[in-house]
Amino acid sequence: MADLDVVVVGAGFTGIYAVHALRSAGLTVRAFEAGDGIGGTWFWNCYPGARCDVESKDYSYAFSPELEQEWSWSERYPAQPEILRYLHHVAGKFGLWPHIQLNTRVTAAVWDAGPSTWTVSTDDGASVTARFVVMGVGNLSELAVPDIPGLDTFEGPWYHTSRWPKEGVDFNGKRVGLIGTGSTGIQVAPEIAAVAEHLYVFQRTANFAVPNRNRPWEDAEERTFKESYRDYREQARKSILGVPVAGTGKAALETPADEREQVYMERWKAGGGMPFLGAYTDVMFVREANDTVAEFMRDRIRETVADSEVAELLCPKNFPVGAKRLCQSDDYYAMFNQPNVTLVDIRSAPVESVYPGGLKTAANSYELDAIVFATGFDAITGPLFAIDIRGTGGVALREAWARGPRAYLGVAAAGFPNMFIVTGPGSPGVLSNMVLSIEQHVEWIRDCITHLTGGGYATVEADPAAQETWMELVTEIAYSTLFPMADSWYVGANIPGKPRAFTPYVGGVGSYRERCDAVAAAGYEGFTLGPGSVSTA
Ligand code: NAP
Repeated sequence: MADLDVVVVGAGFTGIYAVHALRSAGLTVRAFEAGDGIGGTWFWNCYPGARCDVESKDYSYAFSPELEQEWSWSERYPAQPEILRYLHHVAGKFGLWPHIQLNTRVTAAVWDAGPSTWTVSTDDGASVTARFVVMGVGNLSELAVPDIPGLDTFEGPWYHTSRWPKEGVDFNGKRVGLIGTGSTGIQVAPEIAAVAEHLYVFQRTANFAVPNRNRPWEDAEERTFKESYRDYREQARKSILGVPVAGTGKAALETPADEREQVYMERWKAGGGMPFLGAYTDVMFVREANDTVAEFMRDRIRETVADSEVAELLCPKNFPVGAKRLCQSDDYYAMFNQPNVTLVDIRSAPVESVYPGGLKTAANSYELDAIVFATGFDAITGPLFAIDIRGTGGVALREAWARGPRAYLGVAAAGFPNMFIVTGPGSPGVLSNMVLSIEQHVEWIRDCITHLTGGGYATVEADPAAQETWMELVTEIAYSTLFPMADSWYVGANIPGKPRAFTPYVGGVGSYRERCDAVAAAGYEGFTLGPGSVSTA
């Protein structure tokens, strides 16, 4: 006997849809959410400038034609508050609120082979049993703050962008230090620079950023687009990144330089990162081809930033475009022309310590009133390891994945029956349009649970051999591309001591979906289904 059919961990895009999809399949479900609101990533990352780098027409649920027709996005790229409003609308429309428990952090999930149930414990001291657990914890929810000596002595406030105070922060007249120049740092910097007395941007690694060309989504454009939304979604499902991208169909290295330049310039003027990665067939496979994009982007930095030394420092030189998340901003580079902004190179002179009045590098001291860390996350595994997950024989997930994470199809780990991971390692997840991948995963999980229940099975578990074969394929595809060629969170390089592993499936969301469907059609090939049934209260 179990209290519930399914416990869902998290109430972001995954948790919200999982509650809806699983309840619609007749299952009893409860989602636990640590925050005091729904939204996951979009609840926590409320720093100024937070905006999605996938267009709103793509970064939205496709499961309900009615929802996609009735909801109106105001801008091409949705800002954090609008995404949060959208998720509230979804939760209200589909009656999900009664099944989501806020302010409740899941601390442990322990498999009990006897009754074939998970016991899920929460930080309020309660526990609940369920036939299945769906981990919708997000890939980027466990934040990383560098261990800088003296940080505890700092007299001013410091913030991590992912735990931004809901009431906002007033930097007016303040000297602010920003550490981190990834997608987040590049978004927050111009917002701080607009009000601060001075902004010091401490850069360890320069990053590529392309313009958003963000703009309002006009009513007429929206109406026309929505007439063929279903067809568009279908194209997205079959695509590589989960967003239809028109490529030239040619190889960059077989295209005359002036023609290539023109193609890149058109894409630069149109805005968005994915069109660059998909412009030519060889961009993400051949370094010389990628270099043509990289040099084009470096030229744009050089023509935007007035001080040539600063411009050169802002030019990324040691990794391929796309091997780190391609950042998007309309005003990051131009911001360095403001007199109140200083770029500090902490690659050549690293940060040494924080003192009560500021920050010291190997070359200089900087008097600061506040410090902002846009230093990223212990990605993918961090949020799962934050929960004491124990599978068969009490083995901890942390131990099972000590040499790197492994999951069959990216959704299920051997040794952890009846536990599903959404956008886990081995799935396209973090290198795709997240919302599309989330929906695909959740629907596959729903169908799997329905199949088990209907077929008289109590358990489903990934076979170790199938898992290994899958992870070998994931690795083989990854290393045929340039994606793993950067020290980034994609490979765990940002967390000291973390085993280096590139785990996203980069073979395309279309081919991934086909493989998942084929596994299901073959009676969940590569999984062991255990007979029995577990009743729920
Ligand atoms: P990130 O990409 O991991 O960038 C972290 C930054 O902090 C890097 O510049 C890194 O430098 C720096 N850093 C980390 N530790 C440091 C240390 N000890 N000393 C100095 N610098 C340090 O994190 P993020 O910018 O938060 O982005 C994470 C992911 O979130 C993105 O890749 C993207 O997938 C997602 N995101 C998306 C959006 C969007 O949709 N627009 C916005 C924000 C985030 P190094 O490069 O040298 O390590």
